[in-house]
Amino acid sequence: MPLAAAPPSPKITVHTVLAAGCNLEPIECIHCGDDENVTFNQGIGDAHCATCGEWQLEDSD
Ligand SMILES: [Zn+2]
Repeated sequence: MPLAAAPPSPKITVHTVLAAGCNLEPIECIHCGDDENVTFNQGIGDAHCATCGEWQLEDSD
């Protein structure tokens, strides 16, 4: 008997990490959605995505 599709796991973004107060992985990039190349920098309190080159909390607009 096939199981019902599992609900998608909640996405971790830089906001999740900041709210939790600890480094959670994988962080999903809020700009491009990549979740394999986002690194949180605790010294800065922001995370950087190597895929699109964007800082997560920096508003580039
Ligand atoms: Zn990105």
